Amino acid sequence: MVNTSSDQEAPGALEPVRTLLNTWLIPNDTRQAEDRFEAYADQAGLPRTRRKELRSLRDDLRQAVEHHADTAAIVNDWVERLDIRPRVVDDAIAFTGGGHAADHVAAVLEAIAAGRWHRLKACPDCRWVFYDHSRNASKRWCLMTAGGPGGRSCGGIAKVRAHRERTRATR
Ligand SMILES: [Zn+2]
Repeated sequence: MVNTSSDQEAPGALEPVRTLLNTWLIPNDTRQAEDRFEAYADQAGLPRTRRKELRSLRDDLRQAVEHHADTAAIVNDWVERLDIRPRVVDDAIAFTGGGHAADHVAAVLEAIAAGRWHRLKACPDCRWVFYDHSRNASKRWCLMTAGGPGGRSCGGIAKVRAHRERTRATR
């Protein structure tokens, strides 16, 4: 089962980015990494000629989410590659650029501008990408408690492990 709890959904245009990132995943039941990009691309009706680019964007953005230090370099590189430009639309900034990959990069830029990007996180255990809605953005694991049939409770598992290690050390 895949973790599908709706309280992990990102706001607005960032949610499709999260969906793209989670086309690479480690399902709870098998614990074997799976790449479901092709099924996702089929469903989205994405032409074959654009798939390589979007998959490569996914892989880069996963790096940015899992290792925050690379975000600026990765995103700036895509901005140049896709020739994304800002435009003022009404009272806001919108980013132009054609195509599927550009839409995702624009959503990332908007999230950075809104101070939301750092809330998109990859669970250090199962690597599922989730949006941290907590007030001070302090969540680490995808779910602190099992959130339904697919919930793995990575935080709970890590706590039990830490507790076992502590009690073993004091024995
Ligand atoms: Zn997890």
